[in-house]
Amino acid sequence: MDQAVLERFHLLLRESKNIVFFGGAGVSTESGIPDFRSKDGLYRQTYRYPPETIISHDFFCLHPEEFFRFYRDKMLWPQARPNVAHLALARLEEEGRLRGVVTQNIDGLHQAAGSKNVLELHGSVHRNTCQGCGKKYGLDFILQSAGIPRCSCGGIVKPDVVLYGENLDTATLQQSAALIKAADVLIVGGTSLAVYPAAGLVDMYRGRSLALINLTPTPYDWRADLIIQCRIGNAFEAVLNSECSR
Ligand code: NAD
Repeated sequence: MDQAVLERFHLLLRESKNIVFFGGAGVSTESGIPDFRSKDGLYRQTYRYPPETIISHDFFCLHPEEFFRFYRDKMLWPQARPNVAHLALARLEEEGRLRGVVTQNIDGLHQAAGSKNVLELHGSVHRNTCQGCGKKYGLDFILQSAGIPRCSCGGIVKPDVVLYGENLDTATLQQSAALIKAADVLIVGGTSLAVYPAAGLVDMYRGRSLALINLTPTPYDWRADLIIQCRIGNAFEAVLNSECSR
């Protein structure tokens, strides 16, 4: 990793009090949760159906048992803990430098790290709703049930996770767009920027510096003022060592 690029990134963190972070699955790989599109990601593994088919609305309705088998096996990581990037972002928020995190992740690790303003574009595995009566359930209910999780009313308990073919929550999308639009510095990290409409949020940014941290190139590299091609933990570890504090 080019040290000069990292130093420019740390200077950005020191100088701004209006940073927004927009991230994806690559933020949590260092917590042991596989992403989708890396070489070890879920999309490179072989299943009876392609993962993007299984985690779709139609598949959920037609084959709920198969859906929950995959979901419990590949999408739930209850032992995962926040890593350096999650902790650094929480620290930046606490110090009044970061306004919020917009995430495509569903794992709840930003909140576990202490971040307060987290907008979850694709929902969360920690929230689940009965499709019959609307009763709410936590993650433990899904982990402790077998097969298709059922409410006491008999309805299927569906994760509040946006499946392929479903719409994003309008309010969350609008709040995310507003936060990014008003940001001075936008840090985009750990996302292939291949999933829409989430990826399109980068187009809302009007600020002075866009830093993009990703192990591999993305379709938005041309828009970035700073491209940091390294593990996201590497880029953020200086925040925890206080090298980015005034
Ligand atoms: P993606 O898998 O398409 O892309 C992840 C990107 O992160 C890749 O470009 C990869 O090179 C990069 N990356 C991986 N590890 C990294 C690291 N340590 N440091 C820096 N970069 C790293 O993921 P996406 O863009 O978020 O989109 C896919 C969808 O996957 C999202 O909708 C999200 O909901 C879902 N998803 C979420 C989780 C989670 O909640 N942890 C896990 C898998 C998938």
